Amino acid sequence: MSQSGQRRMGGQPMFILNEDSERTRGDDAQSSNISAGKAVSESVRTTLGPRGMDKMLVSDDGDVVITNDGATILNEMDIEHPAAQMLVEVAETQEEEVGDGTTTASILAGELLSQAESLLEDDVHPTTIVEGYHEASQIAHEAIEDNVIATDPDDEQLLQVAESSMTGKGTGELGAEDLAQTVVDAVQQVSNEDGVDRDNITIQTQVGASTSATELIEGVIVDEERLSEEMPRSVEDASIALVEEDLEVKESNIDAEYQVSNVDQLNAAIEAETDQLRKYAETLAATDADVVFIDGDVDDRVTANLVDAGLLVFDDVDSDDINAIGAATGASRVGSVNSLEDDDLGSAEEVSVEKFGDDELVFIKGGTATETVTIFARGSTKHVVDEIERTLNDALDVVTASLDAGGVVGGAGAIEIIIADRVRDEAASIRGRKQLAVEAFADAVEVLPRTLAENTGMDPIDALVDLRAAHDGGDASGLISEGQTGVIADPIEYGVLDPAAVKREAVESATEASTMIVRIDDVIASN
Ligand code: ADP
Ligand code: MG
Repeated sequence: MSQSGQRRMGGQPMFILNEDSERTRGDDAQSSNISAGKAVSESVRTTLGPRGMDKMLVSDDGDVVITNDGATILNEMDIEHPAAQMLVEVAETQEEEVGDGTTTASILAGELLSQAESLLEDDVHPTTIVEGYHEASQIAHEAIEDNVIATDPDDEQLLQVAESSMTGKGTGELGAEDLAQTVVDAVQQVSNEDGVDRDNITIQTQVGASTSATELIEGVIVDEERLSEEMPRSVEDASIALVEEDLEVKESNIDAEYQVSNVDQLNAAIEAETDQLRKYAETLAATDADVVFIDGDVDDRVTANLVDAGLLVFDDVDSDDINAIGAATGASRVGSVNSLEDDDLGSAEEVSVEKFGDDELVFIKGGTATETVTIFARGSTKHVVDEIERTLNDALDVVTASLDAGGVVGGAGAIEIIIADRVRDEAASIRGRKQLAVEAFADAVEVLPRTLAENTGMDPIDALVDLRAAHDGGDASGLISEGQTGVIADPIEYGVLDPAAVKREAVESATEASTMIVRIDDVIASN
């Protein structure tokens, strides 16, 4: 094949691709893919660890996101290169599977590509690299399993995991410590012998107070409005109904002109409507319900009747909110007021409407059905609460992963030093050029402690030498960030712990993505 997409058959050129089709091949394709992947990974490097910096992402229309979260950064970046896109997927997978470690996974994938580039330059065949990386990743998994310090972490360890995931994030003026406690409390509320029901924890954010006002609510918070200001602001020992119906005139008797030919008929028609409308409130009042959430619209005349009946009613309620309230209070949704029975009602200790600036939120506390909890996250500005929400989500995920997915390991680069050492050790017994790939994997893993050192302002080479020396001397050591600098010490003693699942997933997804990119030798524009 001499030209892009062209094959010769019996002397006649045969085009299998559109002549204009863009195509890069061989070394060009490989090096362009590798560079793109490395560039993406490079873009999140400075955010790693407690001393990592934040990124400000500005969209075309001026929306600004300030974050330290790898997945968010890569998601918001406008990345077009297909190989670069694969690195974005690494972060996304990491986020979906374990909820944290997205920066770690992206940096590792980038460094695996970097190492692969050197191997390719030394004429190591791509499939040899792929095999070597896979073998090394297997060894890395074993190293992680052998170094889990607690498969069933205690409260203290859970707090430390939560805190390690939050340090360096935008937690406002509230120290990570208090937020960590809130996170661990939340997870413990929703865990039972079957594990942690992460779906039962939600985060509700509200601008306008300092981060230290963040609290854990036993129940749900929904952003809905009272049907009328004349309705009560709070109801204790509430019986709750969920109605999916418009409380309006179902079929108007007045619209059609020809039906109404005199005043008597008009009055009769209005009368019939009013009756129909009055029944809604009467029927509701006859049940035990005192708080009603309606997904549809409510006619003004019905509103007046509902106020008279002393009910607290919300209209136009979001279906997600209806579901959440149902889950928390045990209320079942009914299709009409008429079919509402006492069995359908849910209950809560208190339903209250609280005002925050111009916004009103509904707190439904002490619902009887499940242990649903909500973290009510506060912050002074939208940017602050958004970042707090991301940080809390990461922390909730790491605590959940530590409980449900195989314990915790020493953080601050310690587990990476252990992995690198083990992989290098075992590389010695691997024959041929594959050995080079396995060794390269070990070097790549060390990019993580190296980057932590860089971000802490330490000399990365000295730090790595010291870390290896400490490890060889039999001490578990990481690069603990302390004040303005870092110290080489045992992360377990300092309480810097990461879930084993985060490390497992990072090794896995980084290996997958980098080997996939290395294997590609032809990039063809397709439609
Ligand atoms: P990721 O997106 O990969 O989770 P982070 O910015 O959250 O990136 O950084 C995670 C790394 O920071 C982990 O390796 C963790 O062990 C480390 N880390 C957390 N707290 C400390 C600390 N106090 N000192 C040093 N390293 C820490
Ligand atoms: Mg993290």
